Amino acid sequence: MSILSVTGVNKRFGGLKALDDVNLNVEEGTVHAIIGPNGAGKSTLLNCFVGRLTPDTGTVLFNEKSLIGLAPHEINQAGVSRVFQTPEIFSDLSLLENVMIPAFAKSNGAFSLNAWQSVEGQTSINEEALEGLKDVGLDSKATMLASQLSRGDKRRLELAMCLVQKPKLLLLDEPTAGMARADTNNTIDLLKKISGRGLTMVVIEHDMHVVFSLAQKISVLAQGHVIVEDRPENIKGNPKVQEAYLGGAHL
Ligand code: ADP
Ligand code: MG
Repeated sequence: MSILSVTGVNKRFGGLKALDDVNLNVEEGTVHAIIGPNGAGKSTLLNCFVGRLTPDTGTVLFNEKSLIGLAPHEINQAGVSRVFQTPEIFSDLSLLENVMIPAFAKSNGAFSLNAWQSVEGQTSINEEALEGLKDVGLDSKATMLASQLSRGDKRRLELAMCLVQKPKLLLLDEPTAGMARADTNNTIDLLKKISGRGLTMVVIEHDMHVVFSLAQKISVLAQGHVIVEDRPENIKGNPKVQEAYLGGAHL
């Protein structure tokens, strides 16, 4: 069954057609990669899934319900979480506090100072947040300030902040961007572990090693249009894909 179904999505920025009749189906429980040259429209598409942008036309269904017109927090509460291209964390807070915020928001729907101040409420949120840090291997750094983390650890922290919300669909925009090989491999292992639990993921990624290690399905976006959607083994040799990448990144 499709958990995310995208049909005929178009998005213009003035004279630029950033998304051109995009169709995409993400099967529940799979890792679906979106690849394509720089400027192909990948981040724009993800922004249309999380309510940061509204498509000009087209439909985006999550579990058969339309996401169009919903606010980002409503989409998040429906079960869609996103790891951004640049980590969005609270630099001046500890790792534990960073993860407590989304854990708290999830369990209460919204911030409520009373619940935040209750001892029982805080203890369970605290435990949940620590569990989230453990999940990504950051529990030993729980009291450190987020600003002190390496780039790779910041991304792991952001992942913990998503996972603690127990999403049904996780969207990742270039999760290994700027990472050295060892960190990239750790991230691949971590994402494999998470996908092994059945969490559906959509991953935008430049690094083909990451894409081919994780994805069961790949959509190739070029100039705002999905030119191929297929299994990884059929992507590499596809002449349309080779052509899209000419002059840009290489497969
Ligand atoms: P990708 O993530 O594949 O590199 P983007 O989705 O970021 O590509 O961008 C697709 C195209 O849309 C690019 O030409 C980019 O310059 C343009 N674009 C993206 N966001 C905006 C915006 N907010 N306003 C105007 N143009 C934008
Ligand atoms: Mg992008």
